[in-house]
Amino acid sequence: MPDDVRLILNRTSEPPRVLHREDCPTIQHQVRGDVREERPRGGFAILESYEDGLSLIGPVEGVDRSYYTASYVTIEQLASVGRYRRCKTCAPDAPDGPPPLQVHRKKAENLEASDIGRVSVDGAIERIEHSSEGTTVTLNGGVVLTLGAGDTVSFPKKPQSA
Ligand SMILES: [Zn+2]
Repeated sequence: MPDDVRLILNRTSEPPRVLHREDCPTIQHQVRGDVREERPRGGFAILESYEDGLSLIGPVEGVDRSYYTASYVTIEQLASVGRYRRCKTCAPDAPDGPPPLQVHRKKAENLEASDIGRVSVDGAIERIEHSSEGTTVTLNGGVVLTLGAGDTVSFPKKPQSA
């Protein structure tokens, strides 16, 4: 019997992602696309630009809204999305994700020069910058992680022996 319940892969603040059925009660705000945040918008914006390089600037007002969105996946796509776990509430009829990587975590504020060149689960570390705002880690390939106090970087515990 074909199961046409759609699946939603939910990003959470803490990995791994969670797989739900579309009818799961815990994610209906995403399915409906509820308003997540409304912020008054104010300030100035370029209303018109002219060929001579001058612009007409004027005040703008309004409201910025952001919405919850649901990211749908198919069973076929699940094979390539990486780690996820199945929601316990709706228990989607789908395979479990790959087993969690064995990692050890290091607090961003404790990263030091000797960590440069180490390979984290996200990539090799090329640069570490600490500032009053937090820690910025640049990985090979140009990926930049912006980490606050208490955030961690994960390193694989051991190379997986095949
Ligand atoms: Zn669920």
